[in-house]
Amino acid sequence: MSAAPWTIAGIHAALQAKKVSAREIASGFYAEIDRRNPELNAYLTLSHERAYSQADRVDAAVARGEKLPSLAGVPVAIKDVISTSGIRTTCGSKILESYIPPYDATAVARLENAGAVILGKTNCDEFAMGSSNENSAYGAVRNPVALDRVPGGSSGGSAAAVAAGLAVVALGTDTGGSIRQPAACCGIPGLMPTYGRVSRYGLIAFASSLDRIGPFAANIADTAAVMAVIAGHDENDSTSAAASVPPYDVEIEGPIRGLRIGVPEEYFGEGIDSEVKEKVLTAIALMEKLGCHRIPLKMPHTEYAIATYYIIATAEASSNLARYDGVRYGLRVPGATLLDMYRKTRERGFGPEVKRRLMLGTYVLSSGYYDAYYLRAQKVRSLIARDFSAAFQKVDAILTPTAPTPAFRLGEKTSDPLQMYLADIYTVTGDLAGIPGISIPCGKTKAQLPVGLQILGPHFSESRILQLALAFEKAGGFGI
Ligand code: GLN
Repeated sequence: MSAAPWTIAGIHAALQAKKVSAREIASGFYAEIDRRNPELNAYLTLSHERAYSQADRVDAAVARGEKLPSLAGVPVAIKDVISTSGIRTTCGSKILESYIPPYDATAVARLENAGAVILGKTNCDEFAMGSSNENSAYGAVRNPVALDRVPGGSSGGSAAAVAAGLAVVALGTDTGGSIRQPAACCGIPGLMPTYGRVSRYGLIAFASSLDRIGPFAANIADTAAVMAVIAGHDENDSTSAAASVPPYDVEIEGPIRGLRIGVPEEYFGEGIDSEVKEKVLTAIALMEKLGCHRIPLKMPHTEYAIATYYIIATAEASSNLARYDGVRYGLRVPGATLLDMYRKTRERGFGPEVKRRLMLGTYVLSSGYYDAYYLRAQKVRSLIARDFSAAFQKVDAILTPTAPTPAFRLGEKTSDPLQMYLADIYTVTGDLAGIPGISIPCGKTKAQLPVGLQILGPHFSESRILQLALAFEKAGGFGI
């Protein structure tokens, strides 16, 4: 039985009242996955055995009359760049086609300790490099809202799974927009936490100074409930923050009246779709009606963000992905010499976008170009971060579109990498600054495609961002 749509609170109440068992919920979701996934391609691997043994543990706790942990019996999906012990983790790449991690990412272990049931691993752009999920070695994901459209990327499988009701919540990762942009494309909330708020231990690295793990859910209460579980210091990740974790699920109910919301003009300029602009401006007007003060902002370094991001992210990727050489784990293609084996393994194992990034990243780090590109990009990154800290002297949060257009058609941008990179124009700034941000649905275009409103806040302001999002959810009518 699935009786979708389930929420976390709904599952908790139903389990406690013994109206349904965790095993029945899991099997209901698997039945739905069997029915929809051949078309959507959101899941790459299903983990029935692990899911059912966890569900049985939850059902045993119910039978013993124990107090259930916050995510007991909640079916979750995990992006396939996040390590899961004993469950294949491909990163959407041929090079890790048969890789089975020997340990769990901290975020995954914390979900399971809180009672969550891991259904499987979701499709994504190869090594999280992309904005459409079309760079996966295992085929594109279709957007459940409009099957001829992309779900966004790189966490397209996670966003599509939640939007289609094939998981209650999912984990994604955001390096340049990969949680917020697919959330916008699929019409659900997606939160990128502050850098360091959620441990990266077990997240297979793309660009270590940018990578973050965060949740997708169908509503804000569920988003907060997942954050309360996965956030917090982890001794296995030296960049994870020591700051204590606030009770997000309680704090989201806080008032928003009187909050100052900044609207930067640079996010509404050239290249924005007129319907996206209209929906986002209407959403901002609604926030004003709810008692927020709107303050116009200028963030002058925004125009350099894409160039800066694609230098820093590719430089870090070229170093992080050097480990896939056929020696230690993953694919090995034999060669006549050691160098020949390296070459053949990487030639065969990586797809075209990953190769493009590795060449770009190696180039900007190379002698003679390091100062001109990489070092300069680091300086501009500081200027972009300074734009935000100056803005947060004047405002409590910043509201912008999440992406310049709604979900585009499959194949529409695959031959033009620059057009694809521009899909991230409003999201990469938050990644570069290390601040948190959420995308929430704020209406649909005439063609019924979802539009995302982005709310950005200062470091560790997740509660504030979620308060604004919850107020909008209640007034604007998304969520289940
Ligand atoms: N679309 C961006 C890229 O291709 C962002 C990816 C991400 O956030 N993982 O790099």
